[in-house]
Amino acid sequence: MLFSREIPVKKSVDICIVGGGAAGVTAAVAAARAGAKVYLAEALGMFGGLGTAGGVPVYMTFTDGINFCADGLGREIKDRMNAEFNLCSGGRGINPEKLKRIYDDMCSEAGVDFSFFTDFIGAESNGRNVTHAIFSSKSGIFAIEAKVFIDCSGDAELTTRAGGEYMYGNEKGEVMPGTVCSHWANIDWQKLRNSGVSVYQQLLKAFDDHIFRNNDPHHTGISQTANTLGGGNMGHIFGLNPLSEESLTAGMVEGRKQSVEFQNFYRKYVPGYEGTELTFTASIMGVRASRRAVGDYILCIEDYRTKRIFDDEIGRYCYPVDIHPSSTDKEEQEKFQKLYSIHYAPGESYGIPYRSLVVKSFDNMLVAGRCVSSDQYMQASVRTMPGCYILGQAAGLAAALAVAKNGMVRDIDVKELQRGLKKMGAFLPNFNE
Ligand SMILES: Cc1cc2nc3c(=O)[nH]c(=O)nc-3n(C[C@H](O)[C@H](O)[C@H](O)COP(=O)(O)OP(=O)(O)OC[C@H]3O[C@@H](n4cnc5c(N)ncnc54)[C@H](O)[C@@H]3O)c2cc1C
Repeated sequence: MLFSREIPVKKSVDICIVGGGAAGVTAAVAAARAGAKVYLAEALGMFGGLGTAGGVPVYMTFTDGINFCADGLGREIKDRMNAEFNLCSGGRGINPEKLKRIYDDMCSEAGVDFSFFTDFIGAESNGRNVTHAIFSSKSGIFAIEAKVFIDCSGDAELTTRAGGEYMYGNEKGEVMPGTVCSHWANIDWQKLRNSGVSVYQQLLKAFDDHIFRNNDPHHTGISQTANTLGGGNMGHIFGLNPLSEESLTAGMVEGRKQSVEFQNFYRKYVPGYEGTELTFTASIMGVRASRRAVGDYILCIEDYRTKRIFDDEIGRYCYPVDIHPSSTDKEEQEKFQKLYSIHYAPGESYGIPYRSLVVKSFDNMLVAGRCVSSDQYMQASVRTMPGCYILGQAAGLAAALAVAKNGMVRDIDVKELQRGLKKMGAFLPNFNE
């Protein structure tokens, strides 16, 4: 079947960004603050992606133990959260309502033109130059013309639909399992702390009591997000295909069933949770990994091992390789532990080169966030929200510089980018002039 029709070009901008998660918001704010005319399209009714709609309850590390790796916009977001309320869980707990408003405010204050409920559905290109992104919304189908495009969709939607090269999963074509995160009320955190009870040991008891349909020992549990509230990042949807609506649908149904099992478990086995209520399950699947754009450079595990320094470094990060086991099998669990246990000492980190943000197939496209150009191992490190802030702010500033180069992202002066990032506060210890 061929579907063809004329569609209006709604706007002509310098930079068009697809996806307003952690990466998309920071890319948009960095670009708009640098003076570019930015349009940011988001499919949902809020910014934040997995950190808000996805219910991910805590930030992974912002620092390498000594240095603030996600400095610049990452620090600003954290400070804005802190100014409004005391961040729980060792300063890492996320209150999604506050985070949504912080992102709204930052984009509005920077003058980013944005719309929610706007689905990116296709792209037009002229050889290696993408000319238009096509969107579907309540008002119909429309196009946005731009000089530079940034793929912050999490799933490399822009790269793929424009016809660019991408990677998917591991060597067997498998991705990490998903999780339907959850929100919990009425938890007596002090009682839990005073009890000295280990949730994990209680979980093992519950396995023996057949509380769960599937005994999954990789349990990241519930983290404190406010006085009596918690956020659950638990349960795995094994065999999930994040690119299939059928698989995502079955996964959401399964995730909601798992949450009820967790409610039974926590109420009965864990002190402080006796009166807890499951108040909400996430509106979107917690997709840890799916497609990744192929960039001019693919960040790889060797870079982690060697704590590599790059000439075109746009940031450094340090979170371990966190590839969730693909099943509850002992062998899979041990594989996870082996990789995850390669921790850096305080102050150690790996570099992220600008080339890993440059989409190989095009002249005017960048990528940031969990679909950045990386192998499956490094994706499992840099995909955290602080990691996405580092990538997003660099992609946004680089795109703003590329506007003056007719959108050609390889023509920018990388030193100028590094200088600009440093001015924003970015952690670039190897950039010296
Ligand atoms: C279950 C789970 C637990 C995690 N735990 C942690 C944790 O504890 N700490 C931590 O720091 N990180 C954690 N992470 C990782 C982290 O949350 C994500 O990798 C990160 O938030 C990704 O940000 P992003 O901007 O790249 O993508 P996303 O957050 O996925 O944002 C992408 C955005 O693009 C939009 N979009 C997608 N397609 C389209 C389209 N076609 N048109 C328009 N918009 C589109 C989406 O709606 C979404 O808002 C976890 C992830 C998962 C899944």
